[in-house]
Amino acid sequence: MAGIYLHIPFCQKACIYCDFHFSTLLKKKEAITEAIVKELKLRRAYLENKPVETIYFGGGTPTLLKHSQFERIFDEIFKEFKVVEFPEITVEANPDDITADKLNSLKSFGVNRLSIGVQSFFDEHLKFFNRSHNSNQAFNAVKTAQNLGIDNITLDLIYGFPQLTENQLEENLNKIDSLQVPHVSTYSLTVEPKTALHHLISKGKAPNLDDEVAAKHFELVRNFLKTKGFHHYEISNFGKPQFYSNHNSNYWLGKPYLGVGPSAHSYNLNTRSWNVANNSSYLKQLAANKLPHQEETLSTKDKFNEFILTGLRTKWGITFEGLQKFPQQMAEAFQRELNPLLSKSVLLKKEKGYVLNDEYWFKADGIAAELFQV
Ligand code: SF4
Repeated sequence: MAGIYLHIPFCQKACIYCDFHFSTLLKKKEAITEAIVKELKLRRAYLENKPVETIYFGGGTPTLLKHSQFERIFDEIFKEFKVVEFPEITVEANPDDITADKLNSLKSFGVNRLSIGVQSFFDEHLKFFNRSHNSNQAFNAVKTAQNLGIDNITLDLIYGFPQLTENQLEENLNKIDSLQVPHVSTYSLTVEPKTALHHLISKGKAPNLDDEVAAKHFELVRNFLKTKGFHHYEISNFGKPQFYSNHNSNYWLGKPYLGVGPSAHSYNLNTRSWNVANNSSYLKQLAANKLPHQEETLSTKDKFNEFILTGLRTKWGITFEGLQKFPQQMAEAFQRELNPLLSKSVLLKKEKGYVLNDEYWFKADGIAAELFQV
């Protein structure tokens, strides 16, 4: 099984914290669409004819594409790849783009999952983030989708910033609960280099982030969502049974995927490649029939460290089955690093593998680094 990711590199406005690749100059949408179609054609052999079970439009803001542009991309995917009968097809959407017409257009292509960038239901936060929507639009976007029969919806929520009080976070969570969506992705705000947020904080125009606030918010989010029947299946992701993201779960379970569009990454078990994160050079390279990516071959050590990192971030943990695929001496070195963590109950030995104790989830990346092969 495999997945296809399409990166649509356009946004109406630049959110202050964002370091994804996007442009607010929308005039190249048509050219990028045609280039994506061409890249799909050139990369048709990448997945070695494995059945494609998930298709994911991310960005950027994919809902800025027109019906005809989605049509070009879907036609090419279904022409060049072996797509299963009922694939999971997700589109990331900003609330201000969601209208009944837009959703009917997406449904006509088989889109069956929406990922809506809500972030907060407080307008003061949305203004601070420079989001292009307000809280009413977020609420109405979910209702519009549900009225059209799209129930497989995930909402993005940001926590861990000083302006967000615990009461407001609870109110955000209560709103999500009242909307009865089956999946939530929650992210602690981070300050990435070269973002407007970084600039504002370094000039003293915005308060710095506080790890303790973020850790408290994380606990609050997790406890709230668990009591509402969500499974915490990945560090940032909570889903009701049957509503986990298949596309993202496949990343974490090490399945192959093809990423198309500027800045998209691909992985086929042995290599990883990443497209140029620049719309003009992406267009230029494809116009010259060149693939716009760089590629690295993964060593056994790279694969092992990746397996540890992604495993620890999920409820499935570091599985015994997965460990068996690596050389004996790697497994032995891992065991030596693992024992102290087991004796301190940072990790727990379960039936199928080692999982992080609940209270350490927020530190998963640092703990994974202790277990890496160097
Ligand atoms: S809408 Fe998403 S991709 Fe675009 S700037 Fe905001 S966070 Fe970044």
